[in-house]
Amino acid sequence: MKSMKIRGNLLKLKSLMSNPIQYTLPLGGMEIFMNDLIGKEIEIKFLHQIHCIRCGSLTTTSFAQGYCYPCFRSAPETEDCVLRPELCLAHEGIARDMKYAETHCLIDHYVYLAYTSGMKVGVTRHTQIPTRWIDQGASQAIKLAKTPNRYLAGCIEVDLKAHFNDKTNWRKMLSDENSEFDMTEAATEAAKKLSGEYQKYLVRSAESVQLEYPVRHIPNKLSSLSLDKHDTIRSRLAGIKGQYLIFESGEVMNLRKHNGYLVEMSY
Ligand SMILES: [Zn+2]
Repeated sequence: MKSMKIRGNLLKLKSLMSNPIQYTLPLGGMEIFMNDLIGKEIEIKFLHQIHCIRCGSLTTTSFAQGYCYPCFRSAPETEDCVLRPELCLAHEGIARDMKYAETHCLIDHYVYLAYTSGMKVGVTRHTQIPTRWIDQGASQAIKLAKTPNRYLAGCIEVDLKAHFNDKTNWRKMLSDENSEFDMTEAATEAAKKLSGEYQKYLVRSAESVQLEYPVRHIPNKLSSLSLDKHDTIRSRLAGIKGQYLIFESGEVMNLRKHNGYLVEMSY
């Protein structure tokens, strides 16, 4: 029986580190506690409007996961260094918005190892731990190096990319159940491979963090759901991992891909 119907623009899930992780979905001014909906049927219906998550204007296409084209071209949130930290120039005083850079690029960053669909290396602002790890659906993670800005963290990531992947295969990440790795050992190995000039940034004796997701079970066959192709999903929620809603039907919905999509959700 459906009793709630909420309309609003989709945004990424908020998470709280717990065992398992607690997820809330901000929608239409409400905060929906998603863990309570696992095992229940929900419906998400796309109302064929996308609103830029920065300026709110209507856009026919979403750029860089939720932006209108003008914001995509000018906003600091979509600058090259977001995806490629090694391209950051803020430390040289160059950025789309230096005020933004002061709080997002010119602050402490971590280079970390995370186990998602395999061992991967990544970069994040110090304020984004463990949020970044949860968003990626990592089952384990460990800090590797700490730098005073985004650029240096990016250089270290590039230095380690020869040994570690930096991409996640979502299908493998979702179906991989609780592989256990010795993260401390992996971090020690990574530290040995790091070029001499970066050794001084290594974090000594970091602790490995375990992340547990609210997942009942993972259907055998998974398919990626796009509201652009099928405007309605109606199925029992089987679990949540990373930014993915996993349905009993085997469909998985990446919320980040649907940032700014106006939907009506019923449960
Ligand atoms: Zn915009």
